[in-house]
Amino acid sequence: MVRKQRIKPMLMASVLTGLAGVVLYYLINSRTFQFYGGIIPRVETDRKVVALTFDDGPTQFTDELIALLEDQQIKATFFLVGQAMKQHPQYTRRLSQAGHELGNHTFSHHRMIFKPYAAMAEEIEKTDNLIRQVTHQNQILFRPPFCKKLIGLPRYLHQHHRLTITWDVEPDSRADLRKSATRLAAYTIEHTRPGSIILLHSMNPTEWSSRQALKELITGLKAKGYSFVTVSQLLQYSR
Ligand SMILES: [Zn+2]
Repeated sequence: MVRKQRIKPMLMASVLTGLAGVVLYYLINSRTFQFYGGIIPRVETDRKVVALTFDDGPTQFTDELIALLEDQQIKATFFLVGQAMKQHPQYTRRLSQAGHELGNHTFSHHRMIFKPYAAMAEEIEKTDNLIRQVTHQNQILFRPPFCKKLIGLPRYLHQHHRLTITWDVEPDSRADLRKSATRLAAYTIEHTRPGSIILLHSMNPTEWSSRQALKELITGLKAKGYSFVTVSQLLQYSR
């Protein structure tokens, strides 16, 4: 009997710890919730407008992307990494000159959780400074690496009146879709809705299918009546 009575509290404690872990995981990774400030995975609108967003880089694939988007007469939003911008200032400049919106994706692309507040602030400010060297945008949108955030990062962003932009369509993070550009494009066309924010990693050297799918998914969405705007423009359509 004594043994049984001890097992119960231990079992309860491990169930509670497990539950707390699940909740914490959800909070850290959520695309729709954070403790402070605005987080936007999609804009509520009936208009057929969407935003293409590219994370990471700039890389050696920048010019290829600029040319393709120019062919399609589309302006997109690029969430850039400070370290890569510092390495390739020419790519950052060209993206801005081509009329694309530049967003902040931190300096190091590390997970922004369980870090000192000052370190997070530095990650954001250093990257902002690099963006400001090439653009005159009146706001710089932010996207956390791997969508990871908990308390410190959202608090900093909120205190500085910054929006966190996530996404609602994420084709190239799925292993099954990454193997085929055609399937990746078809998935994107099927899952995009008015006001969608589409996340792609076409800048990354390994993401060949994401680059190959781009033209097909753009023309497919255009055929369904969609037009493409930057995230800042998309926010203006919010009901
Ligand atoms: Zn990233």
